[in-house]
Amino acid sequence: MSDSRRLFFALELPGDIQQQIIQWQATSFPADVGRPVAAANLHLTLAFLGDVSADKQQALAALAGRIRQSGFTLTLDDAGQWLRSQVLWLGTRQPPRGLLQLANMLRAQAARSGCYQSPQPFHPHITLLRNAAHAVPIPPPGFSWRVPINEFALYASEFSRGRTRYTQLERWTLNEQ
Ligand code: ATP
Ligand code: MG
Repeated sequence: MSDSRRLFFALELPGDIQQQIIQWQATSFPADVGRPVAAANLHLTLAFLGDVSADKQQALAALAGRIRQSGFTLTLDDAGQWLRSQVLWLGTRQPPRGLLQLANMLRAQAARSGCYQSPQPFHPHITLLRNAAHAVPIPPPGFSWRVPINEFALYASEFSRGRTRYTQLERWTLNEQ
């Protein structure tokens, strides 16, 4: 299907936090541990949709636009590695209820619209390094970023010329906290 795109809902991080995360990553891990995600690509996926037609994209966007929920504060105070997916990640020890509600709602809407949804529970995380195949010591988080989240967005993911690019297609504001 030529009109389908690879889509996902995600939270964007403010530019200054993206830069600070990259700095922490660069000073905390040897350069050969894995492939770093570029600062501008750091994000937290709420729901992965896979390949979606233009019609279905419109339907999913309409459903997302009906979500009425308050913003929340995300505290980034945890890090870890998943060897199976070879990912080194940044996360939170205590996911705010609003984050779980938003992700569950988007995942349920996607499933009802016929998009594949993994039966795995939602594990909120920000991927820092890919292809991290060997276990590395994770330094105790010398950080605790508090990130105010006031919106969420729909992205298209495209792989071209050896790079993955995300394009923000639409975004929605959450109510004031
Ligand atoms: P790459 O081109 O290296 O795969 P990427 O994983 O960032 O880069 P996508 O595979 O398009 O790009 O994924 C977009 C987002 O959706 C990422 O946050 C990714 O972790 C997440 N994602 C991808 N596939 C799945 C899946 N099957 N289940 C849940 N989340 C997924
Ligand atoms: Mg991928």
